[in-house]
Amino acid sequence: MFVDSHAHLEGEQFDADREQMIARAREAGVETIVAIGSGTGPGSLDCGIQLAEKYPFIYATMGIHPHEAKLAADADFRELEQLAKQPKVIAWGEIGLDYFYDHSPRDVQKQVFLTQMELAQAAKLPIVIHCRPSDGSDNAWEDCLSLLHEQWSPNGLGGILHCFTGTWAHAKRALDMGFMISFAGNVTFPKAQQILDAAKQVPLDRMLIETDSPFLAPVPHRGKRNEPAFVKETARQLGELRGLSTEEMGRQTAGNFYNFFKLAESGKNEVAGR
Ligand SMILES: [Zn+2]
Ligand SMILES: [Zn+2]
Repeated sequence: MFVDSHAHLEGEQFDADREQMIARAREAGVETIVAIGSGTGPGSLDCGIQLAEKYPFIYATMGIHPHEAKLAADADFRELEQLAKQPKVIAWGEIGLDYFYDHSPRDVQKQVFLTQMELAQAAKLPIVIHCRPSDGSDNAWEDCLSLLHEQWSPNGLGGILHCFTGTWAHAKRALDMGFMISFAGNVTFPKAQQILDAAKQVPLDRMLIETDSPFLAPVPHRGKRNEPAFVKETARQLGELRGLSTEEMGRQTAGNFYNFFKLAESGKNEVAGR
């Protein structure tokens, strides 16, 4: 009844027990997982696809994360264009802007973001957005939302704002551009008030849940390695906020996921169209 819309399943943190971790997710009711294929950057961009080929209930993305934007070369964009044609690839990402870590210069991040938006549009794939501002600022939100407004919104393909940490005003701008808002385990943290305030107002049929495994484990697993089985903690927290049970919130967000990506529900798992 749960869909984990964002997990880094190929992470080396799972090398010792990847199969068991995926089995635990299934036992916990996670019927579908999206394996995010940004890996460690160029050279590993097919990592999500490899897992999706192995497991029928795993879908994949691929793209260059803003952290690795400075490593992106022409050949990597050509590779992504080819990978985008793989049948289990449902979105391009994660892409966007990260002004918190600034692992790549901001102008390079913007350029690599723009290039990938063009390629995703040509491939007719929605995009998965990573957006993190500097501490106490909304600088990355302003840049990201205005780039999306100019360069992405008109094509109607939409996408997902992953691990949403912004305000309701940010969420509203993205919703108006056809984006889904995905919430992660940090909604369970004590300092999550701004996220919860936004989550109160996001329409129920536009919400998704994710783990961002192996990062950002929810309470009561905080500080440990995260894994897809823990996505139910995010459903529990959002359910409490919206007056739904954990299971109801799981089913609601799972249905939203299948609708947005026009995928058959669990068990069938063929791509019904994009
Ligand atoms: Zn991210
Ligand atoms: Zn991620």
